[in-house]
Amino acid sequence: MGVDVGFDMVPRLSKGAADRQNWDHFIATVQKHYKDDVKVETKANYIEFNAGEHPVLPFEGHKFLRFSSNTAGSIAVETGVRDYIDTVINIARLHFGPRVHVWSELSGQLGYYDWAEVHKSFKSYQTRDDMETHTNLTHITDPIKELSTPLLEVAIIPGRGRGLIARSNIPLGTRILCEKPLLTVKPMPDDELEEYISTQLKALSKNEQRQFLSLHNNFPRMHPFRGVVKTNGLACGCDSSVGGVYANICLINHSCLPNTHHSWNTDAKHETIYAIRPIECGKEITISYHPGKPSAVRQKSLMKSFGFQCTCKQCSLPAAELQASDRRRILIESLDDQIGDPVTFAGSPNTILESCRTLLHLAEEEYEGYPGAILARLFYDAFQVCIANGDQARARTFAQRAYEARLVCEGEDNPDTKKMKAFARKPTDHHSHGLSSMRWKTTKEMVPKGLDADQFEMWLFRMQK
Ligand SMILES: [Zn+2]
Repeated sequence: MGVDVGFDMVPRLSKGAADRQNWDHFIATVQKHYKDDVKVETKANYIEFNAGEHPVLPFEGHKFLRFSSNTAGSIAVETGVRDYIDTVINIARLHFGPRVHVWSELSGQLGYYDWAEVHKSFKSYQTRDDMETHTNLTHITDPIKELSTPLLEVAIIPGRGRGLIARSNIPLGTRILCEKPLLTVKPMPDDELEEYISTQLKALSKNEQRQFLSLHNNFPRMHPFRGVVKTNGLACGCDSSVGGVYANICLINHSCLPNTHHSWNTDAKHETIYAIRPIECGKEITISYHPGKPSAVRQKSLMKSFGFQCTCKQCSLPAAELQASDRRRILIESLDDQIGDPVTFAGSPNTILESCRTLLHLAEEEYEGYPGAILARLFYDAFQVCIANGDQARARTFAQRAYEARLVCEGEDNPDTKKMKAFARKPTDHHSHGLSSMRWKTTKEMVPKGLDADQFEMWLFRMQK
């Protein structure tokens, strides 16, 4: 007894331009979605899925009646044919809506066409009626080209799939991408999520739908849309549970020593990518998918969440250097914890400042002189401990440094950058002014002049001579 599952195209497609174009786009999306899947083969006149009963999609849409397979039996289960059927159905629905007539013998439904007619259509796939209309089959507008940025290009990076490459030398602090999400998702049960994403996808333009579907999916056995979101989603803000998926930003690969910083601008509702170190022409653009932990922890987590083994510069260091890097990362994490501890903050402000200074030097060493957003965070922490004890002169200096660091990572229009700029002007606007004590009291004019860099740092971090 068969348990066939699939879909029929009802009514069948015509040879007209609209149907033909729609079918070409559908085929191109399927090809792109499965570009790394060896079981999905592009033949001369059709795509063949080497799973189950080897369902096929012809390049000529007017010939197409049915895409289905028997999904019972060991071969069907082993080859995962049901996943292929479900994914192709989802992609087809996006292109053809209600013309996609889904049926399953498991639910007692039969296909729209009778099998004699369907087999006749399969035979017709072997030859091509009209070669000319399919010359642009694999052509999909590359999303990056639409940004018309001269800074970047898409390239296939060996072992890493698609990635972005600098087309010229990019200076520190350059905004290299700024993008609204194709869609956003919030936490919800998995079965609702697939439906939710599907509804949002339908509201997008055909080109945006293709951009979404061409993104990498590390969870091909999961429902296809959810897998793409899980692989590519970036949180809209550090503490946000909402995630965004982007046509271009999601092409950026990971490094544990990234050369760019990504952040969500809560005012403009877009994601930006800034160069946090000078990037040479030809170098790959990278972001960090993971907070900086020691290498073994990073590797495990990157494998679990993203399915790859990191081979970045930092992870490829010789053993002794990697150990030293791991020690720095452990220390950075524990200093971060200590700085965030409210008891130490209130009772030992000098300890907090000392930890900020140690963290500064460690982070500079670990990130080759370009610690990115860590700088902004630690200077803001130092600002807070100073202003909580009435020290406006140091608070103002730290706020200025936090502002300059934010500017490099997130740009002038980011609300956090603006906030730092305002505190540099008027540190007493911070809610914790004098909250711990006034024992470090200074006015904001009392910043010393004429000191060299070392002397100024001694003053700034209240170090004993
Ligand atoms: Zn790495």
